[in-house]
Amino acid sequence: MLNGVLKLGTQYHYKFEISEFVGGKHSRTSKHYAGRAVDVTWIIGRRVGKKADHRGLMNACRKLGATLVLGPGDKNHDTHVHCQW
Ligand SMILES: [Zn+2]
Repeated sequence: MLNGVLKLGTQYHYKFEISEFVGGKHSRTSKHYAGRAVDVTWIIGRRVGKKADHRGLMNACRKLGATLVLGPGDKNHDTHVHCQW
């Protein structure tokens, strides 16, 4: 997961803000608590859900091997992108 997050910056040149790794409130079985998921709320100075390029970041997560990627349009993900490995 951390390798994927690193490469979002080094390989895909995204600047982004992370709201949660293992903190916050998630479903009981969430992979956040296993240290395998990240939530991103800002991408290149724009808030997710408000004109941020969330699709690009989501695709980058998938290319980096993320097995579950959620974002605006998915339930409970209007304001952040969830990338999980
Ligand atoms: Zn999440």
